[in-house]
Amino acid sequence: MKKKTILTIILLSLVLTSLPQIFYTNNGESKIIGKVNNGKIHNAYKLPRKGKNFKYYSYFSYYILGRCYIHSLIYKSIIETYSILEKENPDYSYRIMDCTKRKGGRQFPHKTHQNGTSVDFMTPLIKNGKQITIYDKIGSLRYLMKFNHNGESRINKNVKIDFEAMAQHILILDKTAQKNGFRIRKVILETNLKDELFKTKYGNELNKRKIYFVKSLPKKIDELHDDHYHIDFAEI
Ligand SMILES: [Zn+2]
Repeated sequence: MKKKTILTIILLSLVLTSLPQIFYTNNGESKIIGKVNNGKIHNAYKLPRKGKNFKYYSYFSYYILGRCYIHSLIYKSIIETYSILEKENPDYSYRIMDCTKRKGGRQFPHKTHQNGTSVDFMTPLIKNGKQITIYDKIGSLRYLMKFNHNGESRINKNVKIDFEAMAQHILILDKTAQKNGFRIRKVILETNLKDELFKTKYGNELNKRKIYFVKSLPKKIDELHDDHYHIDFAEI
């Protein structure tokens, strides 16, 4: 009986925590308050759990932690980017990882992601020249995946980061953001992987566009940015 009560309380609190994410509606414009590492967001937009060619990576992060919110114009840019990619890279799927909480503020373990301008995107993977999505389905564990300096998975060398698809995504994202009054302020990708990215056709364009990739990072933080790339946006 006692076990049952505890279980009911847990379930009930999980449902209650999820309610805002279930019923929230996007309306009007968002307002950034403070900085990316010490700030909030007013009237954030909730990203969809999934679209035709993209998904939010984790039910837990989406519904329970509520990290699926972002500034309204960055929201617009993200959605427009995926619809452009639907045509430019058909049959390819993308994943969004942690963004910001509904009202912003600190979220463990991220120091940034506080004011609705930071988004983590999952590094897309290929095997034998074809996209492989099996590792995209492991939720929060995906943050723990490790890759070597060439972007090959440590558990299976045939699985590699798809640098071309990733560069293409960042490039379109910057273009749509600029159309919506924002720009990419900074990309964080493990510094050892950048040469692989810039080697690609779209990577070369990223370079020409002078999108800022962080040059050096403390080792621990650097190593965390291989399974995802972090993007900070800023108003133009
Ligand atoms: Zn991040």
